[in-house]
Amino acid sequence: MKKVIVVGAGIAGLTAGIYARQSGFDVAIYESHTIPGGASTSWRRKGYLFEGGMHWLTGSAPKSPLHKLWREVGALDDSVDIYNRDPFLALEVSGQTVCLYRDIDKLRQHFLQISPADTKEIIRLCGDIKKFTKITMPISDIKGVKVKTKSSLPLSSLFGLLPVLPRLSSYANQTAKEFSERFKSPLLQLLFQNIVGPDWNATSMIFTAATLAAGDGGYPKGGSLGMANRMAKYFEKLGGTIHYGKAVREIQVRDGMAYGVIVDEDLIQADAVIVTQDTLVAIDRLFDSPMREPWAVRMRKNTKPVLNTFIGIGVKADLSDMPENLTFVTAEPLICGGVPQSAISIINYASYEGYAPQGCTAVTSIIMGDTYDYWKACRDNGTYEAEKQKLAEAFIEILAKRYPKTAGKAAVWDVATPLTYERYLGSYKGSWMSTLGKGSKMESYPTKPESINNVYFAGQRLRTPGGLPVAAETGRKAVQYLCRDTNMVFQGNI
Ligand SMILES: Cc1cc2nc3c(=O)[nH]c(=O)nc-3n(C[C@H](O)[C@H](O)[C@H](O)COP(=O)(O)OP(=O)(O)OC[C@H]3O[C@@H](n4cnc5c(N)ncnc54)[C@H](O)[C@@H]3O)c2cc1C
Repeated sequence: MKKVIVVGAGIAGLTAGIYARQSGFDVAIYESHTIPGGASTSWRRKGYLFEGGMHWLTGSAPKSPLHKLWREVGALDDSVDIYNRDPFLALEVSGQTVCLYRDIDKLRQHFLQISPADTKEIIRLCGDIKKFTKITMPISDIKGVKVKTKSSLPLSSLFGLLPVLPRLSSYANQTAKEFSERFKSPLLQLLFQNIVGPDWNATSMIFTAATLAAGDGGYPKGGSLGMANRMAKYFEKLGGTIHYGKAVREIQVRDGMAYGVIVDEDLIQADAVIVTQDTLVAIDRLFDSPMREPWAVRMRKNTKPVLNTFIGIGVKADLSDMPENLTFVTAEPLICGGVPQSAISIINYASYEGYAPQGCTAVTSIIMGDTYDYWKACRDNGTYEAEKQKLAEAFIEILAKRYPKTAGKAAVWDVATPLTYERYLGSYKGSWMSTLGKGSKMESYPTKPESINNVYFAGQRLRTPGGLPVAAETGRKAVQYLCRDTNMVFQGNI
């Protein structure tokens, strides 16, 4: 049996490991952390569970092509309830609230009530959201691979694309902020800027709204770590091995062929290596010299990494009367990583069973932005821990001002900076996706380098904007290339 080493037990690595086992390879995953999941993770502090990864999973809806993949790798099964939060998010300014509902008719009515002056744009937007619901991420087979069960692009997805094409480039050529400026209502403007981010191109915003409208993008019970644990367990049940706390230092290559990896000081031999550490880092660090192939040069040049700072607060109060996912505007901005933030987003896990002790609530906030250099300077000058505490305390104060019920009730706080993500993921600046900016097309990078055989890449960085679907789809694709190269039959079993 041919031996395959997978670098990393994130969602891409677990997906690749599972498909490779199902297809008849002897597979070992080497993971630098002590748990599976990578960026798809959560952690406990004093009885509070902080969901540090996924908030919505594309492919949670049974009719989406990705759903089959999630089932094949054990991420979802009949025992996993999916929670479709609705409204997906709410935004509040000066006592007025706007919601992103899943139902398009309800959304249209709601927007029209907020701003009759924007009727024309609202009707056009809701019509476009409806058209975009027909587009789903395709899961297909690569050319020339032998497969047990064929996966091809359904004709319906091609037909679904036709009415969208004329609108696609219009959305792609404006940022969400520019798109929002077509509307007169400041409330609607702020909503559109906050669905994904003001600097992302507007396609990301409309795809998000359309995914939700299609009944997709739910939250699987057990969240990020629950999903990763299910996949890791399934991989081990199939006979795969995960070596935790073992970082791959280098991939060994001789005469253009990879033949193993170095872990600690040991050489572990393999017939193939699937690399799921952030490709942007792997191409510079895992080989004896940085990879110079044109796509690698393009990746270094074009990647706009997504970074965040994460705040988790355990509140000794039942906050189930508060909105679940709210962005509100503060008079006094929160300074995070040296950058003032006046729109604060919170996720309130009051209704999630097991996320906090009885009568208490876990609250999290994800503050987007590249503050890597700020935090690095803090670490270098010894103020890192103090700065994290300052941020947590300022956030707790803002939360108490908006929700007096939380005042004096913070039982625990935790802050993860881009440096935290970098330490755990080994990713570029701790990032976990890539921004799709104005006019930028969806970049796609090859699974196989040209200059080295037996090496395959997978993971979020291979296709913008990344995220869990890309991690899983590229993990699957890496195994299809591996099967084709070794004349094996690719198998995905449910
Ligand atoms: C706060 C937050 C919210 C998010 N929300 C969503 C969401 O709602 N929906 C969505 O789709 N996506 C979301 N994402 C993004 C998603 O989690 C990631 O894009 C995805 O998990 C990336 O998976 P991956 O396997 O490609 O990479 P990673 O998760 O980075 O996995 C790589 C793994 O490799 C390990 N590793 C790295 N280097 C080595 C080495 N040299 N040797 C051994 N092991 C190594 C790492 O420890 C890690 O476990 C979110 C991410 C975050 C952080």
